[in-house]
Amino acid sequence: MSVSPTPRDLQANRNEQILRIVWGDREDRWPFRFLRGECQCAQCVNEWTGARILDPATVPEEISIERMELVGAYAVRIYWSDGHQSGLYTWERLRKLAESSAE
Ligand SMILES: [Zn+2]
Repeated sequence: MSVSPTPRDLQANRNEQILRIVWGDREDRWPFRFLRGECQCAQCVNEWTGARILDPATVPEEISIERMELVGAYAVRIYWSDGHQSGLYTWERLRKLAESSAE
């Protein structure tokens, strides 16, 4: 149907440890630690079973975002302060994250 929406703005607020995502129709605010725990890369989630390998409880409380890099027009790669940088967060997934947590 329609293409995935693209954020108008992405801002990492390191004081509040919140990633702010501005969409055309709404705004999402995600705690860094929660997002880090939602990483879908092969080191964090078993590609075959979908089972989570990363225990979110092991993510440091003071986790921060070092930098972010756009990947094509569909995702952002987040460089975390714990050295993890293999996870891509697609716009589609970031949209769904809010929709599933609102239920
Ligand atoms: Zn990961």
